Amino acid sequence: MRRPFICGNWKMYKTVSEALAFINEAKGLVADAKDVDIGIGAPATTLKSIADAAKGSNIMIGGENCHWEKEGAFTGEIAPGMLVEAGCDFVIIGHSERRQYFGETNETCNKKAKAAIAAGLTVILCCGETLEEREAGKTTAVVTDHVKNGLAGFSPEEMKKIVIAYEPVWAIGTGKTATPDQAQEVHAVIRNLLVEMFGKDIAEATRIQYGGSVKPENVKEIMSKPDVDGALVGGASLKADSFAQLVHFNK
Ligand code: 13P
Repeated sequence: MRRPFICGNWKMYKTVSEALAFINEAKGLVADAKDVDIGIGAPATTLKSIADAAKGSNIMIGGENCHWEKEGAFTGEIAPGMLVEAGCDFVIIGHSERRQYFGETNETCNKKAKAAIAAGLTVILCCGETLEEREAGKTTAVVTDHVKNGLAGFSPEEMKKIVIAYEPVWAIGTGKTATPDQAQEVHAVIRNLLVEMFGKDIAEATRIQYGGSVKPENVKEIMSKPDVDGALVGGASLKADSFAQLVHFNK
C-alpha cells in the first residue's frame, strides 16, 4: 500500500513569523495523524526556522525550487544541499507556476530532480495541462511529456525518492477542482507510463498526488480514488486548522 502524502505548497506566502506561528499551531493539530506523510513546502527564507520548529513532529519541510548545481555563480538560486542543511526533507520541482513564469522546462526539471535526490531530498515532480491543452484533447500528451522527460534517465533507486503531483493548471487557485474521476483518469495514465518506464513494482510504489483547489470539503472524495495517493495544496494549506482537516481526510 502506498502511504498517503498530504503536502502544503505555500508559494510566495508567509513571513518567518507567520510561518512559525503556523507550524507551532499545526504541530499539535496533526500530531495524532499516524498513517499519512505530512509536508509543507515553504518560501526559502522561512525554511530553517520552521524546520527547527517542526523537529520531533510529524511535519516534513520542503523547498519550492532548487538549482541543479552544488554551488556557483547563480545569483538568486538555492542549491539542494542548502535546502538539506536548512532542514528540508523534500523539494517541489516543476510547478506549473515555475514553468509558466520562470522558464522551467522538462530538461531543467530533470536536472534539478536528479541533483535534489543526490543531495538526499525527496522530489515532488509536478505535471499538468492547461485548459487550452485539455480542450484540445492533449491532456495525456502533455502529462506524458512532463513525466517522461522529467524522469528521463532515472534509476530504480532514484525513483524511490520521487513523488509525482498531477496539477491541472486550470484547477490551480481557481476553485475549479478536477472531478475525482478526471483526476483518477490522468493518475492512471501516469501510473501506466511509470509501468512502461520503470516496471510494475516501481509504478505501484510511486505516489501520485493530485493538486488544484483541494479543500477540506473535497479532499476525502478525491483521496478515495485508487491512483490518488495524496494532495498538493496551495490556498487551503495556509491556515493550520484547514491544513489539519486535509491531513485528517479520512475522518
Ligand atoms: P490551490 O490549492 O491553491 O489551487 O493550488 C494548488 C497548487 O498549485 C499546489 O501546488
